Amino acid sequence: MHSSRRVPVRTLLHRRRLLFLFLASLFAWVSSCDDDPVPPQNGDHTHEPGICGHIDARGAVLETHGVLHASTWDGAVQGQLETQVSALLHDVEVIFLAADSTRFTVADSCMENHMEYTIADSNIVSLSRDPGIQWTFHLFGKQVGTTTLTLQGWHADHAHVNIGPIPVSVTTLQEPGSP
Ligand SMILES: [Zn+2]
Repeated sequence: MHSSRRVPVRTLLHRRRLLFLFLASLFAWVSSCDDDPVPPQNGDHTHEPGICGHIDARGAVLETHGVLHASTWDGAVQGQLETQVSALLHDVEVIFLAADSTRFTVADSCMENHMEYTIADSNIVSLSRDPGIQWTFHLFGKQVGTTTLTLQGWHADHAHVNIGPIPVSVTTLQEPGSP
């Protein structure tokens, strides 16, 4: 009888959550089938969900599947990003460090936050991200040389953290047996 009255926002959110759980379980069920109609998920990330909002970080680490490339703390940079000409340094994840060194990430699904980047010499490398992924990137080596990459963690209209400049080195493909 009151079918046309407005549904409270909380109820809508609740329904959206239920819908998500339903789709998630459906996906899990579909994925377990042999004749899988869902295309394989490239770069499927199983990261912790991450935060959304202020990025209260004192440092950051850049890792590919747990392998450390570079880190920063109070602006001091250690390590570098390395790749080769025509090669991809893939899935470099930005993990922030809180003042007590606790690691945390920002959720890719969070619309309030985004990451900007600056490459000092874009002739050396280019940066790309998968669709819908904000805090994990790939670096593609364009030509031999060195440059720097600076990342900036944004929240709404303000930047919270600068990561870098991080040294980037692009070398030729190493021949087998060379030192
Ligand atoms: Zn903020």
